[in-house]
Amino acid sequence: MGQIRLLPDDVASQVAAGEVVERPASVLKELVENSLDAGASRIDVRFRRGGSSLIEVADNGCGMDREDALLCLERHATSKLRSGTDLASIATLGFRGEALPSIASVSRFRLATRQSGALDGTEIAVAGGRIDFVRACGCAPGTVIEVRNLFFNLPARRKFLRTEQTEQSHLETTFRLLALSHPNIRFTLSREDRVMHQLAPTTLLERIRDLFGPELARRLIAVPDSGDAPFRVYGYLGEPGLSRSDRSQQLVFVNGRAVENAVLSRALREGYHTALMRGQHPITFLFIEMDPGMVDVNVHPAKREVRFRDGRGLHEGVVRMVQEALQSHRGPWTRRFALEARHQGNDVPLAAHPSPATMSTRGQPLLALSTESENVSPSRDPLPQPLIRYTKQHALPSEGSPSGDHQESGDDQVGDDQVSGDLSLQQPGTGADDPALTSKLEASLFKILGVLGKTYLVLENRQGLVMVDQHAAHERILFEQLRKRMEYQGALSQQLLLAQTIQLAPKDSDWVMKNLDTLEQMGIGLEPFGPSTFKLEALPAYLKASDPQRLMLDIIGELAQKSITTSRLRLGEDVIAKTVCRHAVKARDSLGPAECQRLLEDLLACDLPYCCPHGRPTMIQISYDELEKKFGRQAPSWGAL
Ligand code: ADP
Ligand code: MG
Repeated sequence: MGQIRLLPDDVASQVAAGEVVERPASVLKELVENSLDAGASRIDVRFRRGGSSLIEVADNGCGMDREDALLCLERHATSKLRSGTDLASIATLGFRGEALPSIASVSRFRLATRQSGALDGTEIAVAGGRIDFVRACGCAPGTVIEVRNLFFNLPARRKFLRTEQTEQSHLETTFRLLALSHPNIRFTLSREDRVMHQLAPTTLLERIRDLFGPELARRLIAVPDSGDAPFRVYGYLGEPGLSRSDRSQQLVFVNGRAVENAVLSRALREGYHTALMRGQHPITFLFIEMDPGMVDVNVHPAKREVRFRDGRGLHEGVVRMVQEALQSHRGPWTRRFALEARHQGNDVPLAAHPSPATMSTRGQPLLALSTESENVSPSRDPLPQPLIRYTKQHALPSEGSPSGDHQESGDDQVGDDQVSGDLSLQQPGTGADDPALTSKLEASLFKILGVLGKTYLVLENRQGLVMVDQHAAHERILFEQLRKRMEYQGALSQQLLLAQTIQLAPKDSDWVMKNLDTLEQMGIGLEPFGPSTFKLEALPAYLKASDPQRLMLDIIGELAQKSITTSRLRLGEDVIAKTVCRHAVKARDSLGPAECQRLLEDLLACDLPYCCPHGRPTMIQISYDELEKKFGRQAPSWGAL
C-alpha cells in the first residue's frame, strides 16, 4: 500500500515525449502539422545541426491569443476535439493535445504568436517544461515556434540521437512528405541558414518535380481523380519498371496525412501485380480522401498508421485504379517506342539483304538473322493462337510527337507517306479499331534489324535503337493469351489418367470448397471426397507436372494466402505467370524474320507490353542522343549553365 503515486505533470510530459518525440524529425512533423491545422498558407522551416541545436517552424496561420498560448502548453489541451464522439471522425492532423507540452518538456522552447486582428502578440519561453517568461511582443500574424537543444535535460535520450547527418536526412524526408501532402501551400526549408527548398504553391505534379526532380516526374502515370464516393483517389504512380527495393517512395496520403498501412501496401502490390519485379516496391504518390469517420487515426503514437473501417472496399478500389492507370499508360509508352525509323525508304525484305553493317570484319554476321522459312512460328512449342480479339485501343503517335507534327505540317520527308497512310487507318469505320491491325501498324513503325546473340531483337525506330528481350516478350504474350482464354472460356484442362486423392489441412480445404468454381475455370478439376479430402481429376493443359499432387498442394497453399479481389481469376494469373516461363521461347532459340515480326506484333497487342509477367522490361530504347554521346559526337553540355 502507499506505493502508487501520481506523476508530477512535467515528468508525465517527459514520459509522453518518449512516444511523441522520437527524434528531431518528429518535432518538425508535429509543428508543421499544427501550422497546417492553423490554416497557414505559408510555412517556413529551419533547422541546425540535424535539429539537435535548433528546429524552427514559422507560419502565417490563425495564431493564438494569450490565454490559448498558455493553455496549449498544458497536457491534453487542444482546440481540435471537444468530446469523445469527435474522436470517431478526426478531420485535423492533430487531436491529442500532447505535442507542444511534450516538446516543451524536453527542450528550450520559445513560442511567439499573434492573431491577425490583435494589437500585439504573446511570447512564451519554456525550458525543460518550466515556463521562464510570458510577455507581450510584436510579431507578424501567425505563430513561430523555436525548439533548441532537444533532450538537453534527458542526457540518456540525447545520446540516442544518431549522427547529425542521419537526423538531417530524417528531417528532410519528413519535410518532403509534409510539403508533398499540401502542394497548395508555400514551404521553405533552411539548413544551417542556407535555403534548401523554396516551394511555391503549385500542383501536385510540379511539387513532385520540385522535390524529386524532373527525371522521376517524367516517369509517372497520372491516376485520374476517381470522384467522391465512397472515397476519392488521385495522384501519380511510377510507370512499370520504376520501382525500389524498399517502400521509401511508396507514398500514400489519407486525408492529407502520410500514412503506412498494410491494406494499402497489399493493394498497390496487387494492382501492379505482374508489372513489378519480386521484392520490389512501386513508387507512388497516391492521395485518398474519405469521410474522417471511415478511418481511425488514433492507433499510433506518431499517427503514422491508420485503420480503415472498410478495408476491403478500399483494397478493391485501389487495385482497380492502379490497374486502370497502368493500362492507360499504354498509349504514351507506345508513342515513346513506336515512332517510325528515321530512314524508312529502304524496304528491302530483311532476310534477303543483310546490310553491310550487320557483318563483322570476318564476314560473320554480328546480328544473326535466321533465313529459315517465313511461316514457322517463333517457338519450338507453337505459340497459342490468340483466341479472342484484343479489345485495347492503341494510341499512335499524335500531337506533340514528331510524326504527329509531320502529319500536321505536310512535311514530306521520306517515311511520312507511310506514317500518314497508317494514321488514316485510324479513322473510324476504316477498320482501325481492329486491334490486330493496330498492332501491325505499331509494329510497322519499327524496322527490324536482326537478332543479337539469339536473344535480343534489334530494332530501329525514330529515336534510335530498340532492343527486345525475346524471352521476356514471349512470356508476356503467352501470359496475356492464357489469361484471356481463362477469363473468357476457362482454361483448357486435361483429365488425369488416374484421379489422385489429396488430403488438405482443414483451413485449406475450407478455402478449396469455397473456390471450386474458380479453380475449375483455371482448369483444375477437384471433387470433394470426404472430410478435407479431394479427388484431383484434371489439371490445366498448360501445366506439365511430374508430381501433380505435390504441385496442387503447392498451388493451393500459395493461393489460399492471397485475397481474392478484383478478379477471382487473379489466382490463375499467378500460376500462369509461373508456368509461361517454361513455355516461352528461350534466349538462344533463333527466330526468323517473320517470327520476329510476329513476336513484335503480338507484344504490341498486349495490355501491358512493357514488362514480362515477372515485371522485367521487355523492351529498352537506346536513343541517338545516348549513342552520339558514347561516340563523342556530342559535346558534353557543360558550360550550358
Ligand atoms: P493538437 O495538435 O493535438 O491539438 P498540440 O499540442 O500540437 O495538440 O497543440 C495544442 C493546441 O495549440 C492546438 O490544438 C492548437 O489550438 C494550438 N496550436 C498549436 N500550434 C499552433 C499554431 N502553429 N497556430 C495556431 N495554433 C496552434
Ligand atoms: Mg498538434
